Amino acid sequence: MKIVHTAESETRRAPSEWVTGAVWMDATPAESSPGAGVFRVSFEPGARTNWHTHPEGQILHVIAGAGRAATEGGPVTQIKTGDVVYFAPDERHWHGAAPDAFMVHLAINPATNSDGGTDWLEPVTGEQYEENG
Ligand code: MN
Repeated sequence: MKIVHTAESETRRAPSEWVTGAVWMDATPAESSPGAGVFRVSFEPGARTNWHTHPEGQILHVIAGAGRAATEGGPVTQIKTGDVVYFAPDERHWHGAAPDAFMVHLAINPATNSDGGTDWLEPVTGEQYEENG
């Protein structure tokens, strides 16, 4: 067993190269066994990630608020507390808060054959964020 107490981890603001708006992350580094990184991510209303991919996919569990998520070529889908979202390895996608609500999700990034990181791409435009939203 290993415990990372909250006092040992820092809340970091996601850099503007990764997101639009204010996004705060509480992260634990990926462990080799079990191989996964776990993050709690808090988005202010309207904030969202850039387009991105994860080499081994990602699971989101919305723990508060309401948000949106989309994959390339797919509709913008509304998500809320309790919803779970799966992204396949290297599937281009984004996720963020609704325009009028905060959203907090846990993100689990499998890291068996990689560091479980994120490959960051271009920002999600206002039009992409609103589309079908
Ligand atoms: Mn993601």
